[in-house]
Amino acid sequence: MRREKEAPWSGILVYVQCRRGELHPCSPELIGEALRLAEQSKEEVWVLGIGSGMEKVQKELQGYPVSRIFLYETDDLFLPGWYASLAAGCIRETRPSVVLIGGTLEGRALAPRLSVEFRTGLTADCTALAMDPDGNLIQTRPAFGGNVMASIVTEKSRPQFATVRPGVMEPVPRGKGFSPVCFVKSVFSEEKTVKITIREDETKGVAIGDCRLLVAAGRGVKKKEDLEMLYHLAEILGGELACSRALVEKGWMPPERQIGISGNSVRPECLITFGISGTVQFMAGMRQAKRIIAVNSDPEARIFQIAHHPICGDLYEIVPELIQSVEKEAGYQSGGV
Ligand SMILES: Cc1cc2nc3c(=O)[nH]c(=O)nc-3n(C[C@H](O)[C@H](O)[C@H](O)COP(=O)(O)OP(=O)(O)OC[C@H]3O[C@@H](n4cnc5c(N)ncnc54)[C@H](O)[C@@H]3O)c2cc1C
Repeated sequence: MRREKEAPWSGILVYVQCRRGELHPCSPELIGEALRLAEQSKEEVWVLGIGSGMEKVQKELQGYPVSRIFLYETDDLFLPGWYASLAAGCIRETRPSVVLIGGTLEGRALAPRLSVEFRTGLTADCTALAMDPDGNLIQTRPAFGGNVMASIVTEKSRPQFATVRPGVMEPVPRGKGFSPVCFVKSVFSEEKTVKITIREDETKGVAIGDCRLLVAAGRGVKKKEDLEMLYHLAEILGGELACSRALVEKGWMPPERQIGISGNSVRPECLITFGISGTVQFMAGMRQAKRIIAVNSDPEARIFQIAHHPICGDLYEIVPELIQSVEKEAGYQSGGV
C-alpha cells in the first residue's frame, strides 16, 4: 500500500527476525511492547519480517492483534546490506513513526544501517520504552557502565529506531480471531557481497534466556572445581547454571552463561544466586525473574534488596545441604511411595 510522500510518520513497525519459518523468541516481546506503546499513542502496530519460510511465519503472526504484516520471502542467510535495503523500502512506503528491532546479532547489524539510511536516531539495547504526548519515544537504557539509566528522545527526525534486549519486555500471548492485512513478496538478492560463516553454537544445554529455573554462581565460589556442585544442583532442579561476569573473566564459565548488562537478560520463574553481590550491571539482566532466592554470606549484600528469599549464609554449607534434601525428595518420589 503506497502512501503520499508527505504523509506524516505514524504507526509502530516491529521488525521480527525469522529463519526457516521460525520466529525469533523475542518477537512476541517486541509485538507486546509495540501494542502497549500504541495504546498510549493511539497508533497502529505493523510487523515486518524478512527471511525464509514465510508461509509458516505468516500463520504464526496472524495470532497477534496487529493491523498489517509485511513479509519478504528471501535468502535464507542474513545478508545485512540486502535485508537493510528491503527493510528501508518497506519503511519508506509505510512511514512508521517508530521502528522496534530485537537486540539480537541480526538486529544489531540491521538497525544502524537503517538509522544511517534515514539519517535519524537509534537507541540500542533499550530496557524500557514509553511514549510522550507528542509521539516521541522515550527510550531508556543503561549508560556509563550501567551506573545510570538514560532516557533518550529523538525529537527532530523520524522514524525513531530502537533495539530492545531480548528477555526484557513482557511477551504478548497468541490468540484467535485477528485479521491483520498481509502483504507477502518474494525477492532474492542477485549480488552476494558478504561472505558469511555459520558456526555451530558449542555451548551445552539450554540457552539461559529460555530457562524456567536458573542457578547462578558468582565470585563467592572460590575454585573452579567448586562449580561442579552448582552444576549438579542446577541439574537435579531441572535448570541450568548461569553466572556473574566475575566467573567469565576468570575463564571458568563461557560468556553465553553470563547474566547482566553485557551478558544476557533472563526472566526465569526462579533464579537462585550463590555468592553474587548484586551489582547494578548484574541486576540489569535479572530483575524480571519471578522469584529470586539469594544466598550470600554478607548480610549487607545488595542482592538482598531485590531477593524475595534472602538467605544469609555460607554457600559451601548451604549447597551440599540443598543437594541432599532435593535428592532425598527425588528418591522418595522415585521410590513410588
Ligand atoms: C561496563 C561493565 C559491564 C559489566 N557487565 C556485567 C554483567 O553483564 N554481568 C555481571 O555480573 N557483571 C558485570 N560487570 C561487572 C560488575 O561490576 C561486577 O564486577 C560483577 O557483577 C561482580 O560479580 P559478583 O557479584 O560475582 O562478585 P562480587 O561483587 O565480588 O561478589 C561476591 C559476593 O560473594 C559473597 N560471598 C563470598 N564468599 C561467599 C560464601 N562462601 N558464601 C556465600 N556468599 C559468599 C560476597 O559476600 C559477595 O557479596 C560489568 C562491569 C562493567 C564496568
